[in-house]
Amino acid sequence: MESDINRFLRLRKRDAPQWWLDLRVCPGCEQHWLVAQEERFNDIWIMRRLSQEDASAIETQNRWPLDFDHYETLIRIGAEQGHAARFWDSREAIHIVIDLVGQRASISAAEVASLVNVSHSSADALLSQAREAIALRGYPYPWAAIEVRPY
Ligand SMILES: [Zn+2]
Repeated sequence: MESDINRFLRLRKRDAPQWWLDLRVCPGCEQHWLVAQEERFNDIWIMRRLSQEDASAIETQNRWPLDFDHYETLIRIGAEQGHAARFWDSREAIHIVIDLVGQRASISAAEVASLVNVSHSSADALLSQAREAIALRGYPYPWAAIEVRPY
């Protein structure tokens, strides 16, 4: 049947740092889904069918499949489907860049530029400010607005 996300019931929500993940079930056919809500950049839903076994592991042991654990994966999947948002002000990408760096410390400015659709110089600046924020607060950090210095 057609996947209508709004009809699905949310059974579990994952905690930070993967706050974008839910376990949902279709009330019609009882198919379980791993659902990632990528709302900060492309504003899309990404879903994968789960076996009953995978769904029970989440419900009974809080053990989640790893597919959508990295924010980078969500953005790559969006890009593969033709989504490529752009921030009016590239500094708005800072929270995404913090997740990208926090989850893969070796990420390069070129990769950041291509993932969040900013110039190479903006990516450089975002990357260094994200690294600073993580050095200061750790990662995953308690969410807080970050003042991004002009660049
Ligand atoms: Zn269904």
